[in-house]
Amino acid sequence: MKPLTLVGLVYFISVFIMSSKSLRQSQLFTKTRREAPADELAKNAQLLIRAGYVYKNMAGAYTFLPLGLRVIEKINTIIRQEMDAIGGQELVMPSLQDSALWEASGRWSDDAVDVWFKSELKAGGQVGFSWTHEEVITDLMRQFISSYKDLPKFPYQIQKKFRNEMRAKSGIMRTREFDMKDLYSFSATQEQHDTFYAACSDAYKKIFDRLGIGQMTYKTFASGGAFTKFSHEFQTLAEAGEDIVYVNEEKGVAVNEEVLDAADLSELGVTRDELQKRKSIEVGNIFSLGTKFSEALDLYFTNENGESKPVIMGSYGIGPARSMGTIVDLLADEKGIVWPESVAPFLVHLVGLNGEDAAVRDWTEGIFNSLTEQGVEVLYDDRDVRTGEKFADSDLLGLPYRVVASKRAKEEGKFEVVTRATGEVRSLTEDELWADFDTNPNT
Ligand code: ATP
Ligand code: MG
Repeated sequence: MKPLTLVGLVYFISVFIMSSKSLRQSQLFTKTRREAPADELAKNAQLLIRAGYVYKNMAGAYTFLPLGLRVIEKINTIIRQEMDAIGGQELVMPSLQDSALWEASGRWSDDAVDVWFKSELKAGGQVGFSWTHEEVITDLMRQFISSYKDLPKFPYQIQKKFRNEMRAKSGIMRTREFDMKDLYSFSATQEQHDTFYAACSDAYKKIFDRLGIGQMTYKTFASGGAFTKFSHEFQTLAEAGEDIVYVNEEKGVAVNEEVLDAADLSELGVTRDELQKRKSIEVGNIFSLGTKFSEALDLYFTNENGESKPVIMGSYGIGPARSMGTIVDLLADEKGIVWPESVAPFLVHLVGLNGEDAAVRDWTEGIFNSLTEQGVEVLYDDRDVRTGEKFADSDLLGLPYRVVASKRAKEEGKFEVVTRATGEVRSLTEDELWADFDTNPNT
């Protein structure tokens, strides 16, 4: 019993440490800045840079600073939960890719693919940097799939992609190096494939709902390639978008330019004049691949009748950073970023005022510790800066709730609590404050 108890204790302590993710702002090495860099044109990156979430190293390459990394990790957690719920299994594949696999699929040539980054091996030969993983995963799954009993399978990863994009002007929404969630489906029958395709489409809807951009995000019909009539893009309506979609908001139908002819539209129950042309951001897409890659890379299985058949595949992508940029773009106001609770780096911004008064400071420390022990994620502004600067930074950072701890709050036993998204101001007692944050989804 004893070793088990010890293991249990260590586990409990480590879970406690991991879950008490609060931070003192004075300890952050990043700082807010008043102006965005002059060469940064995109609103998402301007705000994220000013607030210290990201840093632009060069065009198309950004650092995710501690605050930005917390947001990305929350987005990734939501994506993982929804992918796991439909049978996804996570792995990580390498970024360095064998040219031979791509020769086999006909996609190694720069004429076929215009976004390649490639390099020479010192030992001889060429490698490519992953811009997608169909070839690599198909080759890998040959090790594990030989019978219909091995199917279906849904491996996915959240992993680096490199793309030599011609323009990188949309901040973190179009970069030359980025993480992508890419899931690949492997099915024995068309029915199996269609079932998963529909489940993944539903999961994407849940993901974008949970990210706070669901209302503006449309499952958009796009051309399907050789194996299916349609593929689907998840397009979020936004003026900052690089894409164009045609939408009927009442009917909830959206199509892209490839699907604008009358026959396609009538299949979808709309006419051209019912559709409105809108700018949009492609945050995700799902695609039936048929047997293109399994035939090219020799991924066959034996079906129930003992016949050898190529595996039916699909691919399903989401850009976590592009989603983050979209959230910023859609929800921000003139004062700064507005995070939904689901992805905010912290739920509460505890703004400590009158810190020069030791009694007030000690009392505020106590509030910080209690909230943290309760499991609330708190960013505590314990910095020695002017009140006006604290409030301006707080608006810019965009955490869902601001709690002001001041000399007056201490004396009156009441906190000013501001909801960032609505601007609603409440005056809560300490007990009311505990009760309020006890019901938050992050605890
Ligand atoms: P786009 O048409 O915008 O270039 P794509 O069709 O090339 O996108 P996919 O290859 O299907 O996109 O990638 C899947 C997802 O990865 C996209 O829906 C998007 O969210 C994200 N993504 C694609 N390219 C980039 C990029 N350069 N920077 C950041 N995210 C990206
Ligand atoms: Mg692209």
